[in-house]
Order: sequence, then structure tokens, then C-alpha cells
Amino acid sequence: MDLGIKGRWAIVEAASKGLGKGSAAALAAEGVNLVLNARGKETLEETADKIRADNPEIQVLTLAGDITQIEIREALIKMSPQIDILVTNAGGPAPGNFRTDTRERWLSALEAQLLGHADMITKVVDQMVARNFGRIVNITSASVKMPVENLGLSTAARMALTGFASTISRELIQHNVVINNLLPGPFETDRLTGNMRFAADRAGEAYEDVYAARVGKNPAKRFGTPEEFGAVCAFLCSNHVGFMTAQNVLMDGGAFPGNI
Ligand code: NAP
Repeated sequence: MDLGIKGRWAIVEAASKGLGKGSAAALAAEGVNLVLNARGKETLEETADKIRADNPEIQVLTLAGDITQIEIREALIKMSPQIDILVTNAGGPAPGNFRTDTRERWLSALEAQLLGHADMITKVVDQMVARNFGRIVNITSASVKMPVENLGLSTAARMALTGFASTISRELIQHNVVINNLLPGPFETDRLTGNMRFAADRAGEAYEDVYAARVGKNPAKRFGTPEEFGAVCAFLCSNHVGFMTAQNVLMDGGAFPGNI
């Protein structure tokens, strides 16, 4: 299927690794020009070089910096020749226990998973409206639908982003600007392996045992791949979703134990 977005421009945040990288690669394969961000310059450049090599017809710009900083968000917007697509993403906060979560940890989770994304969306939607095309995908988490132990901070912040996106999407869809959320369950990335190491240390168990138990619990009997995630993200950025907004698309291998 032709996604109909060849030649468009996308900002993909937190894109040097994992789900952001998978999304960037899938958009590039559709002929979308990219502005990519992550904090670490070296890995970001490696990722950008690989995408350029695989897709010589597109332009790939990069900006290293922390997406929770307003200056970085503004610089990303400034350097983008135009913004047709925005994929919001940032590293999730480290897991922790709510009893010991400090105000600082709360504020940093809110900054990373709510305030920064809401600010970026607010800053780009009017130019999307003016061109009568906009696709925004928020990478949130399956924890929005089903709580995950020790991830209360990020879940609270992501649910607030979901509510914000849902509210403003009703005003924007008449201009062919839509916002959807993509909810990853377990995908094999540094984030997932880091969380499993935390869980293993906490329980005094071997990492390999925690890994095998997690895989075994998922109905798919495996974790998802960033490539699978990227393909769905690219579809949610496509020309075909103009009548679809404020949806929460869950990719979790069937782990959510509900019918709808
Ligand atoms: P990952 O493999 O650890 O990759 C995270 C990417 O984000 C890296 O490129 C990292 O590069 C960048 N990044 C992190 N913090 C950033 C910041 N403040 N500013 C700019 N870039 C930043 O993580 P992932 O698995 O792709 O996860 C992406 C998001 O999905 C996270 O919010 C995570 O909590 C969520 N999620 C993941 C899973 C899963 O199973 N993988 C499940 C549910 C939810 P630098 O470190 O160089 O900045």
C-alpha cells in the first residue's frame, strides 16, 4: 500500500534507538524527509547515516539535545523546512516505588511525558492546519490501558497527554490534522531490557529468568520489534488516516486481557 506521504517532512523525537528509530526508518522507507533528535550525538548520527544510506532520495537532518528542554524543541521546529508529521517520544522515567518517588521525579516525568509533548504539539498544529495536512503520533505505552508495576509516574503523565490530545483533536480533524497514540507493550529495546534488569535486581533473580518469564507470559511468546512498531507508526502518519483521530492503538502481542 502506498501511504501517500512521499516528500513530506517529519520530526521524530528520541529517534536514535528503539521505537523512535523504528518509526523514523519506516517513514524514511515511505520517502518522508526527516528531522531526528536524541541526546547522544554519536548514536544519533550513526542512526541518521544508516537511514540516509538506505534511503538516498530523502533528506535527514539531526539535532542532538534533550527534548524536554524548550530550546531544543524550538530549534527542531526552526530547522524543519516544514512539519507535516510529528512523532512525539522521550525516554520513560526509571521505574520506582510510589512511596519513595520525590517531587523532582514527578516533575521530571511530567516534563518528559506530558508538558514537552503538549508544548510541541501546540507549536506545530497551526502550520499543519494552514497546509490542511497534519499527522501526529504520540508514542505512549500499554500502561495507559493496563497498569504496570512501578511505572505509576509515567503512566499518570501519559494518561494526561492522552486526554489533552483527545480534546484538541476534535477541533483539528476538520483541517485534516489528526492525532493518534501508539501504545507499545513489550518491545525488545534498551528500555525494556533495562526495566527487566531493574526487576531482576529487585527480586534477586537472574536476568535470563526474568526475560524468559516475561516472554512466556505474552500470548505471542515473544517481544515486538522496533520494525513492527515503525510500520504501524508510519501507517498512522499516512494519507489514509484523515478520518481517524484520538485513537489509542495498542501493540502488545495480545497481552491486554479484554475484548475491546
Ligand atoms: P530506548 O530503546 O531506550 O530508546 C530511547 C530513545 O530515546 C533513544 O534514542 C534515546 O537517546 C532517546 N531519548 C531518551 N530520552 C530523551 C530525551 N530526553 N530527549 C531526547 N531523546 C531522548 O527506548 P524505547 O523502548 O524505544 O522507548 C521509547 C518510549 O516508549 C519510552 O517512553 C518508553 O518508556 C516507551 N515504552 C517502551 C516500551 C518497550 O517495551 N520498549 C513499552 C512501553 C513504553 P539518548 O539517550 O541519546 O537521548
